[in-house]
Amino acid sequence: MSEIKNTVVLDQRTLKRIPPFFVFFLILILGLPVVALNYFDIDFGTLAKSLGYDQRAGDFLLESQIRGYFRQAILQWSAFSLSAMTVLLAFTQCRLTNDKIALVIGMAVLFSGSVEALHTLVIDGLSPYFIDKSNLDAVIWTLSNSVSACIFIVGLLLVLYYSGTKKVQINTYILVSILLLICAFTLIYYAATITKLPEMWLHNSGISRPYEMTYLVLYLFLILVIYPRVYDKYPYILTNCIFYMGVTQSVIAIYLMILSNSPYDSAYNIAYFLKIIVYFIPFSCLIINYVFSYNAVLIAQEKLRVSEQRLKYLAGHDALTNLYNRREFSDMLAISLANSERNNTSFALFVLDIDNFKTINDTQGHIDGDIFLKEFSGRLNDLIRKGDILSRIGGDEFTIISSRLKTLSSARKLAERLVKGLNIAYQIQEKITTITVSIGIAVYPQDGKTSEELLKNADIAMYSSKKSGKNTYRFYTANLSYNQHRETEIEYQLREAINNNELSLYFQPQYNLITQEIIGAEILLRWYNKSLGNILPSEFIPIAENTGQISALGNWVLQRTCEQGRIWLERYKKNLTFAINISQVQFENIDFIENIKHIFAATTFPVSSIYMEIPENTLVQNEMKMLTGLKDLDRLKINVAIDDFGIGYTSLNRLKSLSIKMLKIDKSFVAEIQKSKDKVVVIDTIIRVGNELNMKVMAEGIETPEQLQYLISRECTMGQGFYLSKPLNKEDFEMLAYIN
Ligand code: C2E
Ligand code: MG
Ligand code: MG
Repeated sequence: MSEIKNTVVLDQRTLKRIPPFFVFFLILILGLPVVALNYFDIDFGTLAKSLGYDQRAGDFLLESQIRGYFRQAILQWSAFSLSAMTVLLAFTQCRLTNDKIALVIGMAVLFSGSVEALHTLVIDGLSPYFIDKSNLDAVIWTLSNSVSACIFIVGLLLVLYYSGTKKVQINTYILVSILLLICAFTLIYYAATITKLPEMWLHNSGISRPYEMTYLVLYLFLILVIYPRVYDKYPYILTNCIFYMGVTQSVIAIYLMILSNSPYDSAYNIAYFLKIIVYFIPFSCLIINYVFSYNAVLIAQEKLRVSEQRLKYLAGHDALTNLYNRREFSDMLAISLANSERNNTSFALFVLDIDNFKTINDTQGHIDGDIFLKEFSGRLNDLIRKGDILSRIGGDEFTIISSRLKTLSSARKLAERLVKGLNIAYQIQEKITTITVSIGIAVYPQDGKTSEELLKNADIAMYSSKKSGKNTYRFYTANLSYNQHRETEIEYQLREAINNNELSLYFQPQYNLITQEIIGAEILLRWYNKSLGNILPSEFIPIAENTGQISALGNWVLQRTCEQGRIWLERYKKNLTFAINISQVQFENIDFIENIKHIFAATTFPVSSIYMEIPENTLVQNEMKMLTGLKDLDRLKINVAIDDFGIGYTSLNRLKSLSIKMLKIDKSFVAEIQKSKDKVVVIDTIIRVGNELNMKVMAEGIETPEQLQYLISRECTMGQGFYLSKPLNKEDFEMLAYIN
């Protein structure tokens, strides 16, 4: 960027200097013969005389004069046309690369070139007009060289002053130069019209043409004072070229001052040769610079192309795994959709999510998580088919677009291969971790006609895989979508359920099976919503657990139970126990114990009358949290019952170490009494274990007299179930348990 701002396209290969020998060679080749001619004082008039053509001297003089004019005309014409080309080149260079130094050179050459033309017209004998003015052309010459030196000085000063952020006012500079030009022409016109011009030759003195001193001083100032500063800032060939132009101009001045004796003598020829060189230097430098800046532009373009490609790659790929990222995936999906629509074909969109990836990240750190992701995506890449498009669209979420899908069973095969092939042990550092994935599949066109629809439905299918225990795949079905919709609706309505008074408590009596006495009740939550109707806890409790609403619900249940229990206790003085279901999420919540304390304090209901039913799987998962939770409850003297006991494989040892008051035999075992011997064995074992560990045992889900009989025969003394009583509302339970 900075190079462009600095007005010059510089790169490491830009030519910084004109090789000095080149300039001297030029001067030597072009200038030496003329210097030699002058040195031997040879001009055509004297040459003729020395050859003895005295008698026809007049003719020879005329002829040599014509030749002299002709020679001068050619030299001047060459200088003029060279200057014109140089100006053209310089201006195009400035236009193309915003090169201010080229502009300065162009302006200076434009000026001296135009004056050159005028100069040619006023030379005696060459002019189409008869201008009888001796010294006029010498005046013009001095003026032209001085003004072009001025243009250089002013231009370079401007470049220096406006370097960096400030913009050179090109227009101002051009305007000033044109003004100078007009002034110069006016001066020349004035000089041509006044009667007497100052004498230009001082004969018989060391310096024969003192006027040349004007531009000599200016050019010396340019090359000694200004040039070094400019070159410091813009060290490249065009700056350097100004130096050589200045030097050559100075040499011209010195030659003329020392060698010239009369108009149109040989010193003039030297001057004109050198003048051509003055134009030739920028002319060749501009061409060289063209070649190099063009080259620099080519290199810059190539760099741009490469970095553009890199950028495009980065924009479309995931930096960690090098797979396509979400953005690119969206584009690919849109393309696949369009292709399938046009060709009337079908394709499958797979959404893969790594199961429990968060645990890897949490336990092993993000660096290892990244290493794993890399390895995993490599493996995934090996498993897909040729032509399938694999992308990573989230932390642990991947998608595959599998086109050219012939049948649904080929999608099924791929899904099976993925589930199986990815379920392997990965070694991350020293640790070996087994990973599984859940996959959801949506098929175009039946499962969605737009990208959004397809992705949404594949996502729904993936969540369904997660729900059904992970490590599996699911195809999208309309039913899944219905469930998803219902879940969102339940989640939404549940938020206001407490406030809208939609919840109520049901009481399922719990009996002493031997005496048939009611000893308490299990509290079961009921929810009636206007738009959804009656919703079972088995449906809304898991949603409440997922969304964190379970704590509020649990607190509400406990609060209400304690309040109601308090009323009945005071009214009937009969001490029944109430069992409240506590979900695992609620149990692990940090506020859990605080909330309980607060509720018991507020309601003053005896803690000993409450049982908290904790599902057995809570004991199996997350040992630390479970242990501290149970200890806290024990400290509060709250009775703990293990709900749905028997399905979670809790070890005896562990059970022994925990302060648990009651085991509740899961209803699935009770239901199997008389049907399956194995299940009965489980019931027997639970009863024995309970008795041995001094825990109460309660059977739930007693539905038949046979089940009841069997349980009594095994000394299970407590139970509940539809056979004994269904869950009852508050009034019915009060009637049954207290009044009757
Ligand atoms: P659970 O704790 O095992 O509750 C017993 C469930 O079995 C209740 O279902 C009850 O109606 C049902 N039941 C009772 N006797 C019989 C029987 O003889 N046969 C059969 N087949 N079922 C019987 P419900 O009310 O639908 O509750 C389902 C589950 O929802 C409960 O299982 C409990 O885990 C949960 N739940 C209910 N209320 C709450 C609550 O307030 N908080 C929490 N966290 N969970 C609750
Ligand atoms: Mg229960
Ligand atoms: Mg239960």
